[in-house]
Amino acid sequence: MKVGKEPSFRESVDLMFNRAVALMDLPPGLEEKIRVCNATYTVRFGVRLRGKIHTFTGYRAVHSEHMEPVKGGIRFAEAVDQDEVEALAALMTYKCALVETPFGGSKGGLCINPRDYDEHELEQITRRFAYELIKRDLINPSQNVPAPDMGTGEREMAWIADQYARMNTTDINARACVTGKPLNAGGIHGRVEATGRGVQYALREFFRDPRDVAKAGLTGKLDGKRVIVQGLGNVGYHAAKFLQDEDGAIITGIIERDGALFDPKGLDVSAVHEWLAKHGGVADFPDATHCAEGASVLEEDCDILIPAALEGVINMTNAARIKAPLIIEAANGPVTAGADDILREKGTVIIPDMYANAGGVTVSYFEWVKNLSHIRFGRMQRRQEEARHELIVSELERLDRYLGEAWSMSPNFKDKYLRGADELELVRSGLDDTMRIAYQSMREVWHGRDDVQDLRTAAYIVAIERVAASYRAKGL
Ligand code: GLU
Repeated sequence: MKVGKEPSFRESVDLMFNRAVALMDLPPGLEEKIRVCNATYTVRFGVRLRGKIHTFTGYRAVHSEHMEPVKGGIRFAEAVDQDEVEALAALMTYKCALVETPFGGSKGGLCINPRDYDEHELEQITRRFAYELIKRDLINPSQNVPAPDMGTGEREMAWIADQYARMNTTDINARACVTGKPLNAGGIHGRVEATGRGVQYALREFFRDPRDVAKAGLTGKLDGKRVIVQGLGNVGYHAAKFLQDEDGAIITGIIERDGALFDPKGLDVSAVHEWLAKHGGVADFPDATHCAEGASVLEEDCDILIPAALEGVINMTNAARIKAPLIIEAANGPVTAGADDILREKGTVIIPDMYANAGGVTVSYFEWVKNLSHIRFGRMQRRQEEARHELIVSELERLDRYLGEAWSMSPNFKDKYLRGADELELVRSGLDDTMRIAYQSMREVWHGRDDVQDLRTAAYIVAIERVAASYRAKGL
Protein backbone atom coordinates (compact mmCIF):
# COMPACT_ATOMS: atom_id res chain seq x y z
CA MET A 1 0.00 0.00 0.00
CA LYS A 2 1.30 3.45 -0.93
CA VAL A 3 1.67 5.91 1.92
CA GLY A 4 -1.23 8.32 2.04
CA LYS A 5 -3.64 6.09 0.14
CA GLU A 6 -6.86 5.12 1.88
CA PRO A 7 -6.69 1.40 2.60
CA SER A 8 -9.64 -0.81 1.63
CA PHE A 9 -11.64 -2.46 4.39
CA ARG A 10 -9.72 -5.72 4.08
CA GLU A 11 -6.39 -3.93 3.93
CA SER A 12 -7.42 -2.04 7.05
CA VAL A 13 -8.12 -5.25 8.95
CA ASP A 14 -4.82 -6.74 7.75
CA LEU A 15 -2.85 -3.61 8.70
CA MET A 16 -4.34 -3.62 12.18
CA PHE A 17 -3.62 -7.34 12.47
CA ASN A 18 -0.02 -6.79 11.35
CA ARG A 19 0.49 -4.04 13.90
CA ALA A 20 -0.51 -6.44 16.66
CA VAL A 21 1.45 -9.51 15.50
CA ALA A 22 4.60 -7.38 15.22
CA LEU A 23 4.41 -7.18 19.01
CA MET A 24 3.83 -10.91 19.45
CA ASP A 25 6.07 -13.91 19.39
CA LEU A 26 4.28 -16.37 17.13
CA PRO A 27 5.96 -19.44 15.61
CA PRO A 28 7.13 -18.79 12.01
CA GLY A 29 4.30 -19.02 9.50
CA LEU A 30 1.49 -19.13 12.03
CA GLU A 31 0.78 -15.42 11.65
CA GLU A 32 0.14 -15.89 7.93
CA LYS A 33 -2.06 -18.95 8.59
CA ILE A 34 -4.21 -16.96 11.00
CA ARG A 35 -4.44 -13.84 8.82
CA VAL A 36 -5.58 -15.37 5.54
CA CYS A 37 -9.19 -16.14 4.74
CA ASN A 38 -9.54 -19.93 4.34
CA ALA A 39 -12.16 -19.93 1.61
CA THR A 40 -14.78 -17.77 -0.05
CA TYR A 41 -17.64 -19.27 -1.96
CA THR A 42 -19.29 -17.11 -4.61
CA VAL A 43 -22.67 -18.07 -5.95
CA ARG A 44 -24.71 -16.61 -8.78
CA PHE A 45 -28.29 -17.77 -8.95
CA GLY A 46 -31.45 -16.82 -10.76
CA VAL A 47 -34.91 -16.13 -9.37
CA ARG A 48 -37.97 -15.60 -11.55
CA LEU A 49 -39.57 -12.32 -10.48
CA ARG A 50 -42.00 -10.03 -12.25
CA GLY A 51 -42.00 -12.21 -15.37
CA LYS A 52 -38.23 -12.42 -15.87
CA ILE A 53 -35.23 -14.15 -14.37
CA HIS A 54 -33.10 -11.94 -12.13
CA THR A 55 -29.53 -13.00 -11.38
CA PHE A 56 -28.10 -12.37 -7.91
CA THR A 57 -24.54 -12.67 -6.56
CA GLY A 58 -23.88 -13.86 -3.02
CA TYR A 59 -20.88 -14.85 -0.92
CA ARG A 60 -20.01 -16.84 2.16
CA ALA A 61 -16.44 -16.38 3.38
CA VAL A 62 -14.91 -18.71 5.96
CA HIS A 63 -11.97 -17.00 7.55
CA SER A 64 -10.87 -19.45 10.22
CA GLU A 65 -12.00 -22.94 11.19
CA HIS A 66 -9.83 -23.30 14.28
CA MET A 67 -13.20 -23.81 15.99
CA GLU A 68 -16.38 -25.07 14.40
CA PRO A 69 -19.03 -24.15 13.62
CA VAL A 70 -17.89 -20.91 12.09
CA LYS A 71 -20.14 -17.96 12.79
CA GLY A 72 -21.09 -14.63 11.31
CA GLY A 73 -23.97 -12.71 9.83
CA ILE A 74 -25.39 -12.47 6.33
CA ARG A 75 -25.61 -8.97 4.96
CA PHE A 76 -27.98 -7.75 2.23
CA ALA A 77 -26.52 -4.62 0.67
CA GLU A 78 -25.58 -3.35 -2.76
CA ALA A 79 -21.98 -2.68 -1.75
CA VAL A 80 -21.32 -6.32 -0.76
CA ASP A 81 -18.26 -7.80 -2.46
CA GLN A 82 -15.60 -10.40 -1.77
CA ASP A 83 -13.22 -7.91 -0.15
CA GLU A 84 -15.91 -6.82 2.28
CA VAL A 85 -17.15 -10.28 3.33
CA GLU A 86 -13.57 -11.46 3.82
CA ALA A 87 -12.75 -8.47 6.03
CA LEU A 88 -15.94 -9.04 8.01
CA ALA A 89 -15.23 -12.78 8.32
CA ALA A 90 -11.76 -12.03 9.69
CA LEU A 91 -13.27 -9.66 12.24
CA MET A 92 -15.66 -12.45 13.28
CA THR A 93 -12.72 -14.77 14.00
CA TYR A 94 -11.09 -12.22 16.29
CA LYS A 95 -14.41 -11.12 17.82
CA CYS A 96 -15.40 -14.68 18.75
CA ALA A 97 -11.96 -15.35 20.23
CA LEU A 98 -12.03 -12.12 22.25
CA VAL A 99 -15.44 -12.76 23.83
CA GLU A 100 -14.84 -16.50 24.10
CA THR A 101 -17.68 -17.78 21.97
CA PRO A 102 -16.53 -21.16 20.66
CA PHE A 103 -16.69 -20.36 16.97
CA GLY A 104 -14.48 -19.71 13.99
CA GLY A 105 -15.16 -16.66 11.83
CA SER A 106 -17.35 -16.42 8.75
CA LYS A 107 -19.52 -13.87 6.96
CA GLY A 108 -21.96 -13.84 4.10
CA GLY A 109 -23.45 -11.25 1.85
CA LEU A 110 -25.87 -10.83 -0.99
CA CYS A 111 -25.54 -7.92 -3.45
CA ILE A 112 -29.03 -6.56 -3.28
CA ASN A 113 -30.90 -3.49 -2.19
CA PRO A 114 -33.66 -5.03 -0.06
CA ARG A 115 -35.80 -1.91 -0.54
CA ASP A 116 -36.18 -2.77 -4.23
CA TYR A 117 -38.23 -5.90 -3.47
CA ASP A 118 -41.46 -6.73 -1.70
CA GLU A 119 -41.65 -9.24 1.11
CA HIS A 120 -42.67 -12.19 -1.03
CA GLU A 121 -39.86 -11.52 -3.50
CA LEU A 122 -37.34 -11.19 -0.70
CA GLU A 123 -38.48 -14.52 0.69
CA GLN A 124 -37.96 -16.21 -2.68
CA ILE A 125 -34.49 -14.66 -3.03
CA THR A 126 -33.45 -15.48 0.56
CA ARG A 127 -34.65 -19.07 0.33
CA ARG A 128 -32.83 -19.57 -2.96
CA PHE A 129 -29.58 -18.11 -1.55
CA ALA A 130 -29.98 -20.26 1.56
CA TYR A 131 -30.56 -23.36 -0.60
CA GLU A 132 -27.24 -22.75 -2.39
CA LEU A 133 -25.37 -22.40 0.91
CA ILE A 134 -27.16 -25.27 2.71
CA LYS A 135 -26.38 -27.81 0.02
CA ARG A 136 -22.67 -27.02 0.45
CA ASP A 137 -22.81 -27.15 4.28
CA LEU A 138 -22.20 -23.40 4.36
CA ILE A 139 -25.28 -23.25 6.56
CA ASN A 140 -25.27 -26.11 9.05
CA PRO A 141 -25.66 -26.33 12.86
CA SER A 142 -22.25 -27.93 13.32
CA GLN A 143 -20.37 -26.28 10.42
CA ASN A 144 -21.52 -22.77 9.70
CA VAL A 145 -24.17 -20.76 11.54
CA PRO A 146 -25.23 -17.40 10.04
CA ALA A 147 -27.06 -14.59 11.81
CA PRO A 148 -28.53 -11.19 10.95
CA ASP A 149 -26.37 -8.32 9.75
CA MET A 150 -26.99 -5.15 7.83
CA GLY A 151 -30.21 -5.43 5.78
CA THR A 152 -31.33 -8.70 7.38
CA GLY A 153 -33.20 -9.52 10.58
CA GLU A 154 -35.44 -12.05 12.29
CA ARG A 155 -37.65 -12.50 9.25
CA GLU A 156 -34.80 -13.56 6.95
CA MET A 157 -33.38 -15.86 9.65
CA ALA A 158 -36.78 -17.59 10.00
CA TRP A 159 -36.85 -18.22 6.23
CA ILE A 160 -33.31 -19.62 6.34
CA ALA A 161 -34.11 -21.90 9.31
CA ASP A 162 -37.22 -23.16 7.58
CA GLN A 163 -35.34 -23.75 4.34
CA TYR A 164 -32.73 -25.78 6.23
CA ALA A 165 -35.43 -27.81 8.01
CA ARG A 166 -37.11 -28.60 4.68
CA MET A 167 -33.83 -29.85 3.25
CA ASN A 168 -32.81 -31.75 6.41
CA THR A 169 -36.04 -33.24 7.64
CA THR A 170 -34.45 -35.61 10.17
CA ASP A 171 -31.92 -33.20 11.72
CA ILE A 172 -33.08 -32.81 15.31
CA ASN A 173 -30.79 -29.78 15.69
CA ALA A 174 -32.05 -28.04 12.57
CA ARG A 175 -32.99 -24.87 14.42
CA ALA A 176 -29.38 -24.34 15.47
CA CYS A 177 -28.43 -23.77 11.80
CA VAL A 178 -28.92 -20.02 12.16
CA THR A 179 -29.32 -17.53 15.01
CA GLY A 180 -31.26 -14.30 15.36
CA LYS A 181 -34.52 -16.11 14.68
CA PRO A 182 -37.87 -14.84 15.96
CA LEU A 183 -38.87 -16.27 19.36
CA ASN A 184 -41.58 -18.46 17.88
CA ALA A 185 -39.07 -20.04 15.50
CA GLY A 186 -36.47 -20.99 18.09
CA GLY A 187 -35.04 -17.56 18.87
CA ILE A 188 -34.01 -16.25 22.25
CA HIS A 189 -35.16 -13.29 24.33
CA GLY A 190 -32.85 -10.31 24.04
CA ARG A 191 -31.17 -11.17 20.71
CA VAL A 192 -32.62 -8.22 18.80
CA GLU A 193 -31.34 -5.69 21.34
CA ALA A 194 -28.11 -7.62 22.02
CA THR A 195 -25.58 -5.65 19.98
CA GLY A 196 -26.87 -2.30 21.27
CA ARG A 197 -27.02 -3.66 24.78
CA GLY A 198 -23.43 -4.87 24.39
CA VAL A 199 -22.35 -1.34 23.41
CA GLN A 200 -23.97 -0.04 26.61
CA TYR A 201 -22.25 -2.70 28.76
CA ALA A 202 -18.94 -1.95 27.03
CA LEU A 203 -19.20 1.75 27.85
CA ARG A 204 -20.18 0.99 31.43
CA GLU A 205 -17.08 -1.16 31.85
CA PHE A 206 -14.92 1.54 30.26
CA PHE A 207 -16.27 4.11 32.72
CA ARG A 208 -15.63 1.79 35.68
CA ASP A 209 -11.89 2.43 35.51
CA PRO A 210 -10.89 6.08 36.06
CA ARG A 211 -7.55 5.41 34.34
CA ASP A 212 -9.32 4.57 31.10
CA VAL A 213 -11.66 7.54 31.40
CA ALA A 214 -8.64 9.80 31.99
CA LYS A 215 -6.90 8.45 28.87
CA ALA A 216 -9.80 9.87 26.86
CA GLY A 217 -9.50 13.14 28.76
CA LEU A 218 -12.92 12.63 30.29
CA THR A 219 -14.08 12.49 33.90
CA GLY A 220 -16.94 10.94 35.84
CA LYS A 221 -19.48 8.42 34.63
CA LEU A 222 -21.78 8.06 31.64
CA ASP A 223 -24.37 10.33 33.20
CA GLY A 224 -24.55 13.64 31.31
CA LYS A 225 -22.11 12.61 28.57
CA ARG A 226 -22.92 14.04 25.12
CA VAL A 227 -23.27 11.31 22.53
CA ILE A 228 -23.50 11.40 18.73
CA VAL A 229 -24.72 8.25 17.05
CA GLN A 230 -24.36 7.53 13.37
CA GLY A 231 -27.05 5.17 12.05
CA LEU A 232 -30.30 4.54 13.89
CA GLY A 233 -30.65 0.95 12.70
CA ASN A 234 -31.02 -1.94 15.12
CA VAL A 235 -27.61 -1.43 16.76
CA GLY A 236 -27.48 2.37 16.89
CA TYR A 237 -31.08 2.67 18.05
CA HIS A 238 -30.76 0.23 20.95
CA ALA A 239 -27.38 1.58 22.05
CA ALA A 240 -28.64 5.18 22.02
CA LYS A 241 -31.93 4.33 23.68
CA PHE A 242 -30.36 2.34 26.53
CA LEU A 243 -27.67 4.97 27.13
CA GLN A 244 -30.31 7.68 27.25
CA ASP A 245 -32.93 5.83 29.32
CA GLU A 246 -30.69 3.95 31.73
CA ASP A 247 -27.38 5.80 32.00
CA GLY A 248 -28.38 9.43 31.70
CA ALA A 249 -26.37 10.08 28.54
CA ILE A 250 -27.55 12.94 26.29
CA ILE A 251 -27.95 12.04 22.63
CA THR A 252 -27.04 15.32 20.96
CA GLY A 253 -26.75 14.08 17.37
CA ILE A 254 -28.28 11.34 15.21
CA ILE A 255 -26.91 10.86 11.70
CA GLU A 256 -29.05 9.06 9.14
CA ARG A 257 -29.07 8.50 5.37
CA ASP A 258 -30.88 11.76 4.66
CA GLY A 259 -28.89 14.03 6.96
CA ALA A 260 -28.46 14.52 10.66
CA LEU A 261 -30.46 15.82 13.60
CA PHE A 262 -28.69 17.89 16.18
CA ASP A 263 -29.81 19.27 19.51
CA PRO A 264 -27.32 20.13 22.25
CA LYS A 265 -30.08 19.66 24.84
CA GLY A 266 -30.67 16.10 23.71
CA LEU A 267 -32.86 14.28 21.19
CA ASP A 268 -35.64 11.88 22.14
CA VAL A 269 -34.27 8.66 20.62
CA SER A 270 -37.58 6.78 20.67
CA ALA A 271 -39.41 9.68 18.99
CA VAL A 272 -36.75 9.95 16.25
CA HIS A 273 -36.85 6.19 15.76
CA GLU A 274 -40.63 6.21 15.38
CA TRP A 275 -40.42 9.12 12.94
CA LEU A 276 -37.79 7.30 10.90
CA ALA A 277 -39.89 4.12 10.71
CA LYS A 278 -42.91 6.11 9.56
CA HIS A 279 -41.31 8.57 7.14
CA GLY A 280 -38.23 6.67 5.97
CA GLY A 281 -35.93 9.56 6.95
CA VAL A 282 -35.25 12.15 9.62
CA ALA A 283 -35.29 15.28 7.44
CA ASP A 284 -38.60 16.71 8.63
CA PHE A 285 -38.40 15.67 12.26
CA PRO A 286 -39.96 18.65 14.04
CA ASP A 287 -38.01 18.98 17.30
CA ALA A 288 -34.39 19.40 16.19
CA THR A 289 -32.07 21.19 13.80
CA HIS A 290 -31.63 19.24 10.57
CA CYS A 291 -28.33 19.26 8.77
CA ALA A 292 -28.46 17.96 5.20
CA GLU A 293 -24.72 17.17 5.15
CA GLY A 294 -25.05 14.37 7.72
CA ALA A 295 -21.40 13.31 7.78
CA SER A 296 -20.34 16.75 9.02
CA VAL A 297 -22.06 15.99 12.34
CA LEU A 298 -19.45 13.28 12.92
CA GLU A 299 -17.10 16.22 13.43
CA GLU A 300 -19.26 18.01 16.01
CA ASP A 301 -18.14 18.49 19.56
CA CYS A 302 -19.27 15.61 21.82
CA ASP A 303 -17.91 13.21 24.45
CA ILE A 304 -18.69 9.91 22.76
CA LEU A 305 -19.08 9.14 19.06
CA ILE A 306 -20.88 5.92 18.13
CA PRO A 307 -20.53 5.00 14.45
CA ALA A 308 -23.19 2.29 14.10
CA ALA A 309 -23.67 1.99 10.35
CA LEU A 310 -21.24 1.40 7.52
CA GLU A 311 -17.53 0.69 7.38
CA GLY A 312 -15.05 3.41 6.45
CA VAL A 313 -17.12 6.42 7.57
CA ILE A 314 -14.19 7.78 9.54
CA ASN A 315 -11.37 7.86 7.07
CA MET A 316 -8.31 9.86 6.08
CA THR A 317 -10.44 12.71 4.75
CA ASN A 318 -12.21 13.52 8.04
CA ALA A 319 -10.24 11.84 10.86
CA ALA A 320 -8.22 14.93 11.73
CA ARG A 321 -11.42 16.92 12.29
CA ILE A 322 -13.14 14.38 14.60
CA LYS A 323 -13.47 16.09 17.98
CA ALA A 324 -14.87 13.22 20.06
CA PRO A 325 -12.25 12.04 22.56
CA LEU A 326 -13.91 8.60 22.74
CA ILE A 327 -15.18 6.55 19.80
CA ILE A 328 -16.96 3.26 20.26
CA GLU A 329 -17.23 1.23 17.06
CA ALA A 330 -20.71 -0.24 17.12
CA ALA A 331 -20.40 -0.96 13.38
CA ASN A 332 -17.77 -3.22 11.86
CA GLY A 333 -14.81 -1.33 10.47
CA PRO A 334 -16.14 2.24 10.71
CA VAL A 335 -12.59 3.63 11.17
CA THR A 336 -10.11 2.87 8.37
CA ALA A 337 -6.53 1.97 9.26
CA GLY A 338 -5.41 5.36 7.91
CA ALA A 339 -7.88 7.19 10.13
CA ASP A 340 -6.90 5.00 13.06
CA ASP A 341 -3.29 6.24 12.73
CA ILE A 342 -4.43 9.86 12.71
CA LEU A 343 -6.77 9.41 15.67
CA ARG A 344 -4.22 7.50 17.78
CA GLU A 345 -1.76 10.29 17.13
CA LYS A 346 -4.35 12.78 18.42
CA GLY A 347 -4.94 10.71 21.56
CA THR A 348 -8.50 9.69 20.69
CA VAL A 349 -9.49 6.52 22.52
CA ILE A 350 -11.22 3.96 20.30
CA ILE A 351 -13.13 1.02 21.72
CA PRO A 352 -12.69 -1.34 18.77
CA ASP A 353 -15.42 -3.04 16.73
CA MET A 354 -14.33 -6.60 17.44
CA TYR A 355 -15.14 -5.94 21.08
CA ALA A 356 -17.72 -3.16 20.97
CA ASN A 357 -20.26 -4.94 18.78
CA ALA A 358 -19.66 -8.47 20.07
CA GLY A 359 -22.94 -8.46 22.01
CA GLY A 360 -24.71 -9.80 18.92
CA VAL A 361 -22.61 -12.90 18.50
CA THR A 362 -22.53 -13.46 22.26
CA VAL A 363 -26.31 -13.74 22.45
CA SER A 364 -26.25 -15.74 19.20
CA TYR A 365 -24.08 -18.20 21.10
CA PHE A 366 -26.71 -18.42 23.83
CA GLU A 367 -29.38 -18.99 21.20
CA TRP A 368 -27.36 -21.74 19.53
CA VAL A 369 -26.83 -23.46 22.90
CA LYS A 370 -30.57 -23.12 23.64
CA ASN A 371 -31.41 -24.72 20.30
CA LEU A 372 -29.01 -27.60 20.88
CA SER A 373 -30.27 -28.19 24.41
CA HIS A 374 -33.90 -27.92 23.28
CA ILE A 375 -34.92 -26.07 26.42
CA ARG A 376 -35.45 -22.45 27.32
CA PHE A 377 -32.95 -20.96 29.78
CA GLY A 378 -34.33 -20.88 33.34
CA ARG A 379 -37.09 -23.40 32.72
CA MET A 380 -35.76 -25.94 35.24
CA GLN A 381 -34.52 -23.67 38.00
CA ARG A 382 -36.73 -20.58 38.05
CA ARG A 383 -39.48 -21.82 40.42
CA GLN A 384 -37.00 -23.68 42.58
CA GLU A 385 -35.03 -20.45 42.95
CA GLU A 386 -38.24 -18.66 43.89
CA ALA A 387 -39.07 -21.32 46.51
CA ARG A 388 -35.67 -20.89 48.14
CA HIS A 389 -36.04 -17.10 48.13
CA GLU A 390 -39.47 -17.55 49.71
CA LEU A 391 -37.77 -19.30 52.64
CA ILE A 392 -35.46 -16.35 53.26
CA VAL A 393 -38.23 -13.81 52.86
CA SER A 394 -40.45 -15.58 55.40
CA GLU A 395 -37.57 -15.60 57.89
CA LEU A 396 -37.06 -11.85 57.28
CA GLU A 397 -40.78 -11.29 57.78
CA ARG A 398 -40.53 -13.08 61.14
CA LEU A 399 -37.63 -10.78 62.06
CA ASP A 400 -39.62 -7.78 60.87
CA ARG A 401 -42.50 -8.72 63.22
CA TYR A 402 -40.11 -9.41 66.07
CA LEU A 403 -38.13 -6.13 65.73
CA GLY A 404 -41.24 -4.00 65.37
CA GLU A 405 -40.43 -0.30 64.75
CA ALA A 406 -36.66 -0.83 64.90
CA TRP A 407 -36.36 -2.50 61.48
CA SER A 408 -38.46 -3.32 58.46
CA MET A 409 -37.91 -4.71 55.01
CA SER A 410 -37.40 -2.12 52.26
CA PRO A 411 -40.45 -1.53 50.13
CA ASN A 412 -40.53 -3.74 47.01
CA PHE A 413 -37.71 -5.91 48.36
CA LYS A 414 -40.00 -8.90 48.66
CA ASP A 415 -41.35 -8.69 45.11
CA LYS A 416 -37.96 -8.03 43.59
CA TYR A 417 -36.15 -10.72 45.51
CA LEU A 418 -38.79 -13.42 45.17
CA ARG A 419 -38.83 -13.46 41.41
CA GLY A 420 -36.58 -16.12 39.85
CA ALA A 421 -34.65 -15.06 36.76
CA ASP A 422 -36.37 -15.52 33.41
CA GLU A 423 -34.64 -16.04 30.09
CA LEU A 424 -34.21 -12.35 29.31
CA GLU A 425 -32.56 -11.65 32.66
CA LEU A 426 -30.25 -14.62 32.23
CA VAL A 427 -29.31 -13.50 28.73
CA ARG A 428 -28.55 -9.98 29.94
CA SER A 429 -26.53 -11.33 32.84
CA GLY A 430 -24.52 -13.60 30.51
CA LEU A 431 -23.96 -10.72 28.10
CA ASP A 432 -22.90 -8.31 30.84
CA ASP A 433 -20.44 -10.84 32.22
CA THR A 434 -19.03 -11.53 28.75
CA MET A 435 -18.58 -7.84 27.96
CA ARG A 436 -16.90 -7.12 31.27
CA ILE A 437 -14.49 -10.04 31.10
CA ALA A 438 -13.53 -9.38 27.50
CA TYR A 439 -12.90 -5.71 28.27
CA GLN A 440 -10.78 -6.64 31.25
CA SER A 441 -8.64 -8.91 29.09
CA MET A 442 -7.99 -5.97 26.70
CA ARG A 443 -7.42 -3.57 29.58
CA GLU A 444 -4.79 -5.84 31.07
CA VAL A 445 -2.75 -5.72 27.87
CA TRP A 446 -3.41 -1.98 27.31
CA HIS A 447 -2.16 -1.00 30.76
CA GLY A 448 0.24 -3.87 31.27
CA ARG A 449 2.48 -3.51 28.21
CA ASP A 450 4.54 -0.44 27.38
CA ASP A 451 4.53 -1.26 23.68
CA VAL A 452 0.73 -1.30 23.46
CA GLN A 453 -0.77 2.17 23.21
CA ASP A 454 -4.36 1.46 22.21
CA LEU A 455 -7.31 -0.82 22.87
CA ARG A 456 -7.49 -2.11 19.30
CA THR A 457 -3.96 -3.48 19.37
CA ALA A 458 -4.71 -4.95 22.79
CA ALA A 459 -7.87 -6.60 21.44
CA TYR A 460 -6.00 -8.09 18.48
CA ILE A 461 -3.25 -9.40 20.75
CA VAL A 462 -5.72 -11.15 23.06
CA ALA A 463 -7.71 -12.58 20.15
CA ILE A 464 -4.73 -13.70 18.05
CA GLU A 465 -3.10 -15.30 21.08
CA ARG A 466 -6.25 -17.38 21.64
CA VAL A 467 -6.53 -18.43 18.00
CA ALA A 468 -2.81 -19.31 18.02
CA ALA A 469 -3.25 -21.35 21.21
CA SER A 470 -6.05 -23.27 19.57
CA TYR A 471 -3.87 -24.04 16.53
CA ARG A 472 -1.01 -25.07 18.82
CA ALA A 473 -3.33 -27.41 20.74
CA LYS A 474 -4.26 -29.04 17.44
CA GLY A 475 -0.59 -29.60 16.69
CA LEU A 476 -0.55 -27.34 13.65
N1 GLU B 1 -23.65 -9.85 12.27
C1 GLU B 1 -23.28 -9.75 13.65
C2 GLU B 1 -21.81 -9.40 13.78
O1 GLU B 1 -21.22 -8.81 12.92
C3 GLU B 1 -23.71 -10.97 14.46
C4 GLU B 1 -23.03 -12.24 14.12
C5 GLU B 1 -23.62 -13.46 14.81
O2 GLU B 1 -24.47 -13.31 15.66
O3 GLU B 1 -23.21 -14.57 14.45
O4 GLU B 1 -21.20 -9.64 14.78
